[in-house]
Amino acid sequence: MVTYNGLNFEPCITRDEIQQIVQRVADQISADYAGRTPHFICMLNGAVFFFTDLIRALSIDCTISFMRLSSYEGTETTGKIKEVIPLQVDIRDRDIIVVEDIVDTGVTLHYLRERLQAMQPRSLRMASLLFKPAKLQHEDARPEYYGREIPEAFVIGYGLDLDGMARNLPEIYSLKQ
Ligand code: 5GP
Repeated sequence: MVTYNGLNFEPCITRDEIQQIVQRVADQISADYAGRTPHFICMLNGAVFFFTDLIRALSIDCTISFMRLSSYEGTETTGKIKEVIPLQVDIRDRDIIVVEDIVDTGVTLHYLRERLQAMQPRSLRMASLLFKPAKLQHEDARPEYYGREIPEAFVIGYGLDLDGMARNLPEIYSLKQ
C-alpha cells in the first residue's frame, strides 16, 4: 500500500502486466499501420511513460510530438479544458495517433478529436493505457486502442498523478475505499 495526501492506495496493475499491455497495444498498432509512418501525439504529463514505452515497442517507423491539456484538480475533474502546451507541428494529411494515460469522462478526448480533426489529418485515432467506461459522457471519446478497462476508482502511478505526485511509481495503484 502507498499513501499520498493522507489517502491510501492499493496495488492495481503490476509492472509485468503493464509491460504486457503496452506490448499488446504496440503490436496492434504496428499491424494496423504496417507500411505507413504515423505521427504520435503524447498527452503530457500523464501519458509520458506509456508513450515512451509504447513508441519503443513498435515495429514501424513513426514521428512524435507533444501536447498538454489540463482538466483535473486533485481527484475530481473540473470539466474545463485548458491548452497548456498547444500542438506545434502540422498534422495535415498525416495518420495521427493520440496517446493518453486514461479516459474517464471522455471530455478530454472529445475536445481533442474536434480540435485535431479541424487540422485535417488523413486519419485520427486514440490510444489510451486505461479506460474507465463507467462515466463516459462522449461516445466519440471511446479510444480505438486501449490497454485495460478499469472500474471507477481513482488510480495513480506509471505517469498518473495525485496533485503532481506518484507519477514515478512503476506500478499502478487504486484509491482504497
Ligand atoms: P477525462 O477528460 O476523460 O475525464 O479525463 C482525462 C484525464 O483526467 C486523464 O488524462 C487524466 O489526466 C485525468 N484522470 C482521469 N481519471 C484519472 C485517475 O483515475 N487518476 C489520475 N491520476 N488521473 C485521472
